[in-house]
Amino acid sequence: MPSGSDETAVTVQPVSSLSPTSESAHLFEEACRYLPGGTSRLHIYSKPFPIYARSGRGCRLTDVDGVERIDFLNNMTSLILGHGNPHVSRAVMDQLGRGVAFSEPTEQEVALAKLLVERVPSIESIRFANSGTEAVMLAVKLARAFTGRSRIAKFEGFYHGYYDYVQFSFASTSENWGAADTPRTVPSSGGLADSAGAEVLTLPFNDREAVESLLDQHGSSLAAVLCDPLCNRAGYPRPADGFLDYLREVTRAYGILLIFDEIVSFRLGYCGGQGIYGGDPDLTALGKIIGGGLPIGATGGRADVMALLDPTQHPPAIISGGTFSGNPLTMAAGLAAMEQLTPAVLEQLNAVGEELRSRSNAVFKVAGVRAQLSGAGSLYRIMCTDQPIDNYRASIQTAEAIAWIAELYRQLLDRGVIIYHQGSIALSTPMGTPEVDAFMGALEQSVERMGKPTWLKKSPVS
Ligand code: PMP
Repeated sequence: MPSGSDETAVTVQPVSSLSPTSESAHLFEEACRYLPGGTSRLHIYSKPFPIYARSGRGCRLTDVDGVERIDFLNNMTSLILGHGNPHVSRAVMDQLGRGVAFSEPTEQEVALAKLLVERVPSIESIRFANSGTEAVMLAVKLARAFTGRSRIAKFEGFYHGYYDYVQFSFASTSENWGAADTPRTVPSSGGLADSAGAEVLTLPFNDREAVESLLDQHGSSLAAVLCDPLCNRAGYPRPADGFLDYLREVTRAYGILLIFDEIVSFRLGYCGGQGIYGGDPDLTALGKIIGGGLPIGATGGRADVMALLDPTQHPPAIISGGTFSGNPLTMAAGLAAMEQLTPAVLEQLNAVGEELRSRSNAVFKVAGVRAQLSGAGSLYRIMCTDQPIDNYRASIQTAEAIAWIAELYRQLLDRGVIIYHQGSIALSTPMGTPEVDAFMGALEQSVERMGKPTWLKKSPVS
């Protein structure tokens, strides 16, 4: 059972991480010959090049140059049990010996579905896919087919993967975002059909009055309101007290389905973000942690809505397949991971999380740097403001702040700590106070080394 570090002291070796003669530099150069920008995942690119991973064990990752660091990113929050969790590895190896994928269903799929349905009250039935993007896509299609309506609403600044209809307004800027109470729907990617934007209404998070007024105007044409209880891309704004329950009521009043994207927020508690902040969604999109480290997505929710996928009585209303959906390797890994994530384990992880958050915020305060770790539990984002973040617009960082965070990422790498170059951090269960101590040491040294940026400066506390 994972329960914090089994080691008493963690050494953080100063290393020069991003040398142009490193194996990572060499690999990136080669990668650029074969992959656009050297990568399959846009977010992985960071200046001057990413470090290439060789292996991971527990909360540590060793790169191709043989440098070991503590991994505070965990494959973009998905490896909640860290690397090579023995129970997950055993389940995967067992399944590997029996076969990796079949045209036929397997018992592992039934077992993981049962675990999730029994665990989350709003999920009465579930369908597996291979990514969070697919999970959101299916949820939107279910809502459309169920309501007979086509348009959806989403919140400004919220990222939900790369399905066309959700690639709007997650990266709006002051130049194009319009009024705060009626945000414009702005494409956040190229390649979207001209008509797609007309299908999307953008809402301001945590602004009940504005949401009420927009739903008054558009509610009868909406199939779904899509929301994330705690959205990373928007700087992890906490839902205001009762805001998600309000969304529940107002969507019900207009016959709109409420969809929660809990692809990241599910790690916050035994029943995810909805178990903490409320909301009782009709549908929930899951991914990341429920796959035990393997690729996964899942859409679950009300039985009458999920029944649109049921082929046993009639041809299903929605056609959804996926050669690898519900594959036994992922199902076995997901089951082995989720079985370990008991309320006690999650509580312990969140306690370590709060320790890291409060100590980091104290480091920024003492150094006179206006920055904070936003988020909750084991999820964080470094935000260069000391003001509360209640929506996307409050989370906007200046170009200097973005550069400062990217430099902090490089400084931390040199001190044995991995975070995301845009400031996201996620813990894993093998971590405990020794890893928090190591993080604090690296953070203090990095902040000191970088000096006080004038644009962030305020008087240090006495
Ligand atoms: N929703 C959220 C909140 C996410 O953070 C992500 C990915 N980071 C997705 C959806 C898409 O998931 P995937 O990358 O598995 O397609």
